[in-house]
Amino acid sequence: MFNLAVILRESAQAAPAKPAIRHPGGAITYAELDELSDSVAEGLATLGVRPGQAVGLQLPNIPQFVVSYFGILKVGAVVVPLSPLLKAREVAYSLRGSDARALITYEAAAKEAALGAEDAGVKDVFVVGAPARDTRPFTELPVPVTGRRPLAAREGSDTAAIVFTSGTTGLPKGAELTHFQLYMNADIPGRLFDVRPEDVVLTILPLFHVFGLSSILDVCVRFGCTLSLVPRFDAEAALTAIERDRATIFEGVPTMFVALLEHPGLDAFDLSSLRVAISGGAPIPAHVMDAFERRFGVLILEGYGLTETAATTTFNVSAEERRAYSVGKPIWGTETQIWDEHGNRLPPGREHIGELVTRGFHVMKGYYRRPEATAEVMTGGWLHTGDLGYEDDDGFFFIVDRKKELIIRGGYNVYPREVEEVLYTHPAVAEAAVIGVPDARLGEEVVAFVTLHPDASATPEELTAFCRDRMASYKYPRSVEVRGTLPKLPNGKIAKLELKPSR
Ligand code: AMP
Repeated sequence: MFNLAVILRESAQAAPAKPAIRHPGGAITYAELDELSDSVAEGLATLGVRPGQAVGLQLPNIPQFVVSYFGILKVGAVVVPLSPLLKAREVAYSLRGSDARALITYEAAAKEAALGAEDAGVKDVFVVGAPARDTRPFTELPVPVTGRRPLAAREGSDTAAIVFTSGTTGLPKGAELTHFQLYMNADIPGRLFDVRPEDVVLTILPLFHVFGLSSILDVCVRFGCTLSLVPRFDAEAALTAIERDRATIFEGVPTMFVALLEHPGLDAFDLSSLRVAISGGAPIPAHVMDAFERRFGVLILEGYGLTETAATTTFNVSAEERRAYSVGKPIWGTETQIWDEHGNRLPPGREHIGELVTRGFHVMKGYYRRPEATAEVMTGGWLHTGDLGYEDDDGFFFIVDRKKELIIRGGYNVYPREVEEVLYTHPAVAEAAVIGVPDARLGEEVVAFVTLHPDASATPEELTAFCRDRMASYKYPRSVEVRGTLPKLPNGKIAKLELKPSR
């Protein structure tokens, strides 16, 4: 018998009065979180939700997310985290694609969510805040219990969550993550990284994304530390929370590091409590890493992973062992290798770029009800990540780019990340995204989009020339567009697909 919710039960027994959550409205202790989530579990059971059935969870980073997450797990049901920004059609797709039985959503999302739920035949919809038509207030869900409600018996190999991958390419698929996988991916990275009960983790990464869910929420609760919840990303709110809650750890995607650095009022905040920062989810440009470390006086440890590995695959575990600009080494008990397109392992060396493949407890069970899609990414227990990179002689991995973002211009391989790195070294550039666009003569052409620092200026011609002087002629962007902002995915990464010209 194994239920991931044991991480909460154990921490609540060890330190009941310790704050599990701090948020703009106050704090919730571990004992309260255990009790509140027991009531949600009881409420779901009363509703008829049975172990193995799925429940959609569509909330921003508010306490009800955490309470509901553990409530769903405790009753043995499967959590399906969804972005509150989804439209009705997308809600229906995810609910249908996970066979969801109920949905917990948020007032700002309620209208679209209710339409989506109706389309997918999901009748039980609970809303935090003001409900919409055919929905009920979240406050009607919990049913108080006396004493502690026993955790539903599950096997380690049973599915705990179905997480739809970010969907930057193709239609989103639901990765089935198991109780054992999520437990181990909270336990091992947390141990390697020496997370301590006194740590306070700034929680601005969305909890509905696997990076927030596994690397922040599960790790924090497993080690009995405090989540400092920020409902959605906003640099001012993040800085305020670090100061207010004396946050010790900041985990983010690179665009968040840029946003904090760019904040005009940065100097007014007391950020001295931070002991370390963790970057993942997308490549952090070397320039951003250096600037952040200088300004904040903390090291950034970079990790790498994907929804299918929930979440960490490789990690720079400590200051002593880190290698800047590398995504680190495979976490304990897992293996990662570089393969060529024929499935042969490549030797270490920057000249041996291939696909990262990985196997171990951190790999998903498969895509829910999508055996063909699962077979496409799995070879004998090895997961094909779709990322290109290499390994150095000491076993550190470096990501060059995503396989699907590789630009092939006139037969030459251009890695967008390499071009972006050069753009980031220009003093006026704040953010950069490089994509390939169809070109009749060359197949694809290299195109860049940038935003500039406040008060800085640079013309497209100047930026093109800057790149031309610094890289081989087939690589530099023939067009650079300066924009006010770049589109972002709900998890904060730059939405490159939205920059592509529509066909
Ligand atoms: P998701 O499934 O949404 O978590 O996205 C996973 C993808 O994010 C990976 O396949 C990589 O392409 C990218 N990614 C995650 N971490 C890093 C990193 N540290 N450096 C480069 N790319 C990363």
